[in-house]
Amino acid sequence: MNAILEIRGLRKQFGGVTALSGVDLSIDEGEILGVVGPNGSGKTTLFNVVTGVYKPTAGAVTWHGRDITGLVAHEVSGAGIAHTFQQAMAFPGLPVFENVQIACEHARKSARPYPWTTPDALLDFVGLSELAHERAGILPFGSLRLLGIALALATRPSLILLDEPAAGLNDRETQTLVGLVKQFPQHGISVCVIDHDMKLMQMLCRRLVVLDFGSKIADGLIHDVLNDPKVLEVYLGG
Ligand code: ADP
Repeated sequence: MNAILEIRGLRKQFGGVTALSGVDLSIDEGEILGVVGPNGSGKTTLFNVVTGVYKPTAGAVTWHGRDITGLVAHEVSGAGIAHTFQQAMAFPGLPVFENVQIACEHARKSARPYPWTTPDALLDFVGLSELAHERAGILPFGSLRLLGIALALATRPSLILLDEPAAGLNDRETQTLVGLVKQFPQHGISVCVIDHDMKLMQMLCRRLVVLDFGSKIADGLIHDVLNDPKVLEVYLGG
């Protein structure tokens, strides 16, 4: 497999708290990788270090062979790594269309053909065309999540990090989201998703990584990982 993102020995201390204690992780081209772990196991910190919200205490992040350790958020985004947040990052007072338009204006130059280069194409893809002229602030929760996906895609990433994308969504909304995310790899976009929801992981991922107390305790095909006694004991409490 061809790794596009390589994380080596990643460590993050917050004062006396070790949020990540030397994590190795790679994300392959065209895959949807899941990262799970109990609360406080370091999932969000992992995303925050990769996306430039925090600088790591030690370790390295390599993107397509280039060292991107410690770059700030807009540099990471400019390199082609997008991030969706649990809280949608839209301008609530602006219409949905303008939100996506602004994101499109900040799209990085990409040599690769990209299927969604206009706000209309993006809104059509995520199914929000009919709400294009509503203010983002009045959107129902599920639609706001889809807007978050459109905003991330607008930057033309080749990797999207999804932070608990299905939290707060009902079953129908979750199915819609899964249907969209599963199409990303065929458009050259790899995915890394963090969530607690094993059902979601089973719908989305082939490979699953498990974190516990800032360390990786399992990494493999999802079926094998879910049957790993270490994972059953530590993560599922059984
Ligand atoms: P998860 O996303 O798996 O729930 P986090 O990455 O949020 O885990 O947290 C890992 C550990 O790091 C926890 O002990 C948490 O309290 C700590 N932590 C995370 N962010 C900060 C921060 N900004 N300041 C201090 N401690 C933090």
